[in-house]
Amino acid sequence: MIPYKHEPFTDFTVEENKQAMIEAIEKVNSYLGQDYPLIIGGERVMTENKLRSFNPSNREETIGHVSQATQEHAERAMAVAKETFETWRSANPAMRADILFRAAAIIRRRKHEFSALLIKEAGKPWNEADADTAECIDFLEFYAREMLRLKDGVKVESRPGEYNRYDYIPLGVGVVISPWNFPLAIMAGTTVAPLVTGNTVLLKPSSNTSVVAYKFMEVLEEAGMPKGVVNYIPGSSRDIGDFIVDHVDTRFISFTGSRDVGVHIYERAAKVHEGQLNLKRVIAEMGGKDTIVVDAEADLELAAESIVKSAFGFSGQKCSACSRAIVLEEVYDEVVAKVKEKAEKLTVGNPETNEHFMGPVIDDKSLNKIKEYIEIGKQEGKLLVGGTTDEAVGNFVHPTVFVDVKHDDRIMQEEIFGPVVGIAKAKDFTEAIKFANDTDYGLTGAVITNNREHLEQARRDFHVGNLYFNRGCTGAIVGYQPFGGFKMSGTDSKAGGPDYLVLHMQGKTTSEML
Ligand code: GLU
Repeated sequence: MIPYKHEPFTDFTVEENKQAMIEAIEKVNSYLGQDYPLIIGGERVMTENKLRSFNPSNREETIGHVSQATQEHAERAMAVAKETFETWRSANPAMRADILFRAAAIIRRRKHEFSALLIKEAGKPWNEADADTAECIDFLEFYAREMLRLKDGVKVESRPGEYNRYDYIPLGVGVVISPWNFPLAIMAGTTVAPLVTGNTVLLKPSSNTSVVAYKFMEVLEEAGMPKGVVNYIPGSSRDIGDFIVDHVDTRFISFTGSRDVGVHIYERAAKVHEGQLNLKRVIAEMGGKDTIVVDAEADLELAAESIVKSAFGFSGQKCSACSRAIVLEEVYDEVVAKVKEKAEKLTVGNPETNEHFMGPVIDDKSLNKIKEYIEIGKQEGKLLVGGTTDEAVGNFVHPTVFVDVKHDDRIMQEEIFGPVVGIAKAKDFTEAIKFANDTDYGLTGAVITNNREHLEQARRDFHVGNLYFNRGCTGAIVGYQPFGGFKMSGTDSKAGGPDYLVLHMQGKTTSEML
């Protein structure tokens, strides 16, 4: 077995790679606008009611029309998943892992096509789309190996005359509700982790990005995933979301998305319904309000670069994005000046031609929310850069920086999920860490400092799931930086980490007298 190594990113300054991506975009153009069915037990179910998936850079452009599941479809998918679980749960784990390895190979071969679809359906710039596809491959490669590591259980002690074993067995039917911001990587990762561990799945991808999820379903089928193991049922939260969360046969829910929806699911899943045999498990990855702390003894160029890249990469639509910076007062003016200079240079536009650092935000709802926060920011602090939008053809928001805000202003506390960052002052490092911790969230954070004691202080006191030193706070790599947060950021379910698969299993002890 080749040891796991993360998928390299593509260098698009190399002409050959650039051409390959242009061709991939043409390929995706050739199948835009098609109708997509549900997939239940391997069967294609085309529904009357379809949702138009569109390009956020150019709202007129249709990516596809996606069938929407009703409760009857969800019920059927549940019955299929429940039945399929009876065989899948005892399928050879190595065979299940092989399906993931093959799926990784297929995606690797069609890498740029998947990235092109992400450029179109999610409005990702080339490098961000390429990273999303690479992360999808990583999840497949990493979780397959993790299953091989765990397939024979974990060693426990036995006394003379006794044979004890501790094995992990799957849970049952899982509901996977995936986000639009990593529509390939997180959708795939949260789907294949339950599959490789022997569970069956109802996949409800985000309505904004259901086409790329459908294409991933085709890859799983080609890789040999048996029918009914994963069932594709896009649909609205209102129509089927609560229904599948509440269902008595749902054993666990893996959700990635907003805090509001995550909390709603967590509460609903706690209610035990008549006929339910298990307490439901919830894996939730929710929001962030992530801080970069800049110390007085620091490389201020690196600090500004880290803030700008982490705040504006993919237009700030990552739960790991930097949306607040806390800067020590001695260096505040200098950092602000550097951030201004860098942010003003960033261009925004349709990512298709790879000319802009930033693309659009996902939809009108998101655009309006960001605009509301820009108005709030203007009242709370001083607008340094941006604050404007370009809505004629797509949903473009210019990179926006607020300064002279207080760490507990709304703009510094509430998740905006757009290209907006606020910068506040602290009088010393201890206060900076205190301000950094003073949010409801605890996902990522970064500290820029050359002071070793301060690094150790942050390691101990900065309460986030992913803490980075002298770099930005986005871009965790599967298998290298397990990703997940504390507090209202979720259940700290560390995607891409050594504990992740176990969340989808239960431990069974057997003790035999010899
Ligand atoms: N894993 C991503 C990162 O480290 C963020 C995932 C998310 O935004 O949901 O940047």
